[in-house]
Amino acid sequence: MIHRPRRLRRTASLRSFIRENHLRRDMLVQPLFVCERAHDAGPISSMPGIERMTLAQCVAKAKELHAVGIGGVLLFGIPAHKDAVASSNEAESGIVQLTIRAIKDAVPELTVIADLCNCEYTDHGHCGLLTEHGEVDNDSTVALLARVALTYARSGVDIIAPSDMMDGRVGALRSALDESGHHDTVIMSYSAKYASAFYGPFREAAGSTPAFGDRRSYQMDPPNAREALHEIALDIEEGADIVMVKPAMPYLDIVRAARDAFDTPLAVYNVSGEYAMIKAAALNGWLDEDRAIDEMLIGFVRAGADIIITYFAEDFARRHA
Ligand SMILES: [Zn+2]
Repeated sequence: MIHRPRRLRRTASLRSFIRENHLRRDMLVQPLFVCERAHDAGPISSMPGIERMTLAQCVAKAKELHAVGIGGVLLFGIPAHKDAVASSNEAESGIVQLTIRAIKDAVPELTVIADLCNCEYTDHGHCGLLTEHGEVDNDSTVALLARVALTYARSGVDIIAPSDMMDGRVGALRSALDESGHHDTVIMSYSAKYASAFYGPFREAAGSTPAFGDRRSYQMDPPNAREALHEIALDIEEGADIVMVKPAMPYLDIVRAARDAFDTPLAVYNVSGEYAMIKAAALNGWLDEDRAIDEMLIGFVRAGADIIITYFAEDFARRHA
């Protein structure tokens, strides 16, 4: 007997009957860049279609995203002031803190996630505080992150997402949040964040290119897979509610391994460079953009992701509303 798997691919209806994975709009998170100064707002040349926004524009966008069924937004702040110790990051009236309040007021049903890091707030562009030898100091950075996290929690954020890759930060954040009565603030940890070339366009968007050196002393080395599972296990043990793999496309093996090894909800971050690649090819007429986006996003679901952070979230949701 000849086996004929094609039999089930003959019509759109048959293909739909046997479709194994589905991407829901409420699994998607749209990153938003919010500027303290209006003149910093505007297009990002390496990310066509994505803009840095003012607070008011961010709130309007959040309403639109909720209306088309998107699950959440992930906020990145572009502060007016940068210094060596990221002081504007822990300001009660900082741009992210104000935006959290404004979005939760305007669209309380939309999940608001705040990225927690220092690289947008330091004049040297590194994710943490520096020692006198110019190295990123783990423990003082973690203490600063905990102070910033409390300002986000007091602003009413739903999820805090530490992206710095310092050791022990999830446990420190959980303790700080719990001790101040914020038991319900969720931690989504950038657990396996690789030192990736695909972050390039984001650094233009957020103005966070390191002034010297690179981030390889804290972000993960791309060839390593077992180490990713170790990082994820540590974050879960320290109290992470959701863990993340970043970037997405070059690391789908890690997503699958993490899904198989852990029951914790799993997010992937489809980063700026992945967005830029598809956009650049589409603008040249080299790819069918819509099909390429949909194929890429369902790949993340198939690999085991529960939550997908992508600059294509709005585009996907509008086309599938
Ligand atoms: Zn950072």
